[in-house]
Amino acid sequence: MRERRANDEFRLLDNRRRAKSHKAERQNNEFKTQENERRAEALKISRENDGFKTEDNKRRAEAHKIERESDEFKAEDNKRRAEAHQIERQSDEFKTQDNKRRAEAHKIERQNDEFKEEERRRNALRMYNSRDKYKNNFDAMKSNYESKIKEGPTHICSCCGGLWFAYSIREYTVEMLTKKGLKKEFIDKVCYLKHEIIELCATCRKDIMSNKIPNLALSNGLAFYEIPDCLKILTELEERLISPRIPFMVIRTLGFSKQFGLKGNLVNVPMNVDTNVSILPRSFSDTYT
Ligand SMILES: [Zn+2]
Repeated sequence: MRERRANDEFRLLDNRRRAKSHKAERQNNEFKTQENERRAEALKISRENDGFKTEDNKRRAEAHKIERESDEFKAEDNKRRAEAHQIERQSDEFKTQDNKRRAEAHKIERQNDEFKEEERRRNALRMYNSRDKYKNNFDAMKSNYESKIKEGPTHICSCCGGLWFAYSIREYTVEMLTKKGLKKEFIDKVCYLKHEIIELCATCRKDIMSNKIPNLALSNGLAFYEIPDCLKILTELEERLISPRIPFMVIRTLGFSKQFGLKGNLVNVPMNVDTNVSILPRSFSDTYT
């Protein structure tokens, strides 16, 4: 046999014949399944060998790296991955697990002192760069600050109804939120103020992205009712007379920003409006001192 194969012509013919018979065999589905199984088994067994596994992973990574060098392939690949990830994240269970896995991975990474140091350095550099812009230019910094606060906190969070400066707000559309894997009904519930552009503050954003209704969401029954026209024209005293409750609260300035806020407890004193209204107007003899 060896002598015969030494003959080049014979070898070529022999290989061709084998390939042909192999192809014919593979056309038989049963044979194909069996052969694939056999190959998978062989690969599994060889992967059990650590050395082979490392080699194999390296080879795969190398092949993938070469493929990714092509821009077109990379774009395709990234798109495919993003789509697959997006579909996976639509499942609540997967999302919870994914978030947990990421948090865990980050925690493990942070246990490494080197990584922690690197992360700190990265953050410090980012802060330094943003400050560096105005390093020697106080006027530029001042005008930047003034332009930022000029508008005042006029942006309304669609979820909690709070007032925010432009830089505390991120803008979204319903499509953008659905793409992040949120359900339509959830978005509808959480975004109480219906505008085309949904504006969200940092606190609401954090809860909404983890599929939670924020504590201060207006949809939790915290929205004020529309004031009827007949009540809009009342004087302060008239308002007080027909108010079913008189609230007592302490309002103080908050820190340096000169905004106002509640401090301490709020006391609601219920009033009996019926008596109030029926004893009016009082005659001179009804006065007590
Ligand atoms: Zn908010």
